[in-house]
Amino acid sequence: MTDVPAGVPARILHYIDGEFVDSLDGDSFDVLNPVTNEVYVRAAAGKAADVDRAVAAAGRAFHDGPWPRLLPRQRSRVLHRVADLVESRDRQLAELETWDTGLPITQALGQAQRSAENFRFFADLIVAQVDDAFKVPGRQINYVNRKPKGVAGLITPWNTPFMLESWKLAPALATGNTVVLKPAEFTPLSATLWAEIFQEAGVPDGVFNLVNGLGEEAGDALVKHPDVPLISFTGESRTGQIIFANAAPHLKGLSMELGGKSPAVVFDDADLEAALDATVFGVYSLNGERCTAGSRILVQRGVYDDFVAAYAERAGNIVVGDPHDPATEVGALVHPEHYAKVMSYVEIGRTEARLIAGGGRPDGFGPEGNWVAPTAFADVPPTARIFQEEIFGPVVAITPFEDDAEALRLANGTKYGLAAYVWTTDLRRAHNFAQALEAGMVWLNSNNVRDLRTPFGGVKASGLGHEGGTRSIDFYTDQQAVHITLDQSHSPRFGKGPDAATSFKKVD
Ligand code: NAD
Repeated sequence: MTDVPAGVPARILHYIDGEFVDSLDGDSFDVLNPVTNEVYVRAAAGKAADVDRAVAAAGRAFHDGPWPRLLPRQRSRVLHRVADLVESRDRQLAELETWDTGLPITQALGQAQRSAENFRFFADLIVAQVDDAFKVPGRQINYVNRKPKGVAGLITPWNTPFMLESWKLAPALATGNTVVLKPAEFTPLSATLWAEIFQEAGVPDGVFNLVNGLGEEAGDALVKHPDVPLISFTGESRTGQIIFANAAPHLKGLSMELGGKSPAVVFDDADLEAALDATVFGVYSLNGERCTAGSRILVQRGVYDDFVAAYAERAGNIVVGDPHDPATEVGALVHPEHYAKVMSYVEIGRTEARLIAGGGRPDGFGPEGNWVAPTAFADVPPTARIFQEEIFGPVVAITPFEDDAEALRLANGTKYGLAAYVWTTDLRRAHNFAQALEAGMVWLNSNNVRDLRTPFGGVKASGLGHEGGTRSIDFYTDQQAVHITLDQSHSPRFGKGPDAATSFKKVD
């Protein structure tokens, strides 16, 4: 077996009330190295009893502890320390993330740095938080009390796990909630690193709790827990449906960031070199395991053949290899189950469209590990499964279109609506096309470049609600309206009768 890097614990545990603990029943599950598929560590498999324990600790920290009562500036200082620690350990975090996920090291490093940025952003936002206050002259002043909701349940997927955890942890903690995090079972390693970072930064015990385990067990128990009033979930649309149903009896607050099959639309007036760079990167970066991947490329007929030829060449040149090698562009897929799913779509694609690049395991790799050659299919009909279904790997579907109307029909023609990318130099077309797209986020002449102030989320089957900037603050807080009368109270005098007999009298 390849040497396990320093920093991997002997066993991955839960972290509850400031301590690493095993499952109450001692159960555990295997965690695999995606390069070899060997078990490199076992992780505690949390069940309902472990979730109970974590929720109880988080509840105590919320009701009796200092965290929700700190001034925003005080919480902000702690969260900036978290960001400092993440930044100072970015290489180690990236190395462990690469080990656990198979993501190329250079990209994992970028994700570690983004995690620090997420903490810094919400640490700054919370001190700049303004709330509404209204005056009705001479009658009322009305203002808003912003209050944390309580114990936030955070459920995260295995793609870029550390960064996606930061995306939920930072706003949940900044607003004064306490949390129970349930990370994905394929990639539990990096979540344990938060425990040390929070401890060192001065986050009080019980504010951050972590329960590892399977979605159907630990995740399910968190969703159904009556003392967890809100769930922020990122994962597959199908899982989102199950969670939605399970949360319904408790009327929980839900934020759902779900699957995608995002279009990249390339018009014939586009800067085609830039479009090529972005559409190649857009689907093959992060091993194609990216919710906002531009996994359907729609290309206008006049430039279609040339674009397809150039695309095939670029896809064929992508460096697949050891995720720890800085030259690697596509590493190993996260897990053999996911590898089997992606490979099955490659086989389906062969029956549905024209293979122009990749198409299976790349040459030169032994039987070990989850390697998929960057794969592209052209002439993909909109009815094809590889056009409609999320593959979540390095596989792209390319489809021609004639005009704007057809491009829009194709772009909107799936159940998903997460992101969209449009390439054109026609300003009017760009804005009007963006408006008509059924997508939560649109990038015009750009790859996915986030501005943390903007809403993040999808429409249709891609999500429910938006996080990002002040919207995250809204999700993790209640807004209590307080009304103050400045005048006489003007209540209609029910029960007083026509003779105005009864007025308030003090009885001695
Ligand atoms: P998944 O839905 O299988 O699992 C996500 C998390 O949910 C895991 O922690 C899992 O253990 C848990 N879970 C599973 N069943 C559960 C249940 N019944 N109750 C409670 N929790 C449960 O998703 P995945 O395969 O880990 O991640 C890939 C998916 O995530 C893709 O569909 C991708 O598009 C999506 N994603 C979306 C975004 C976004 O922002 N929209 C970002 C990243 C990933």
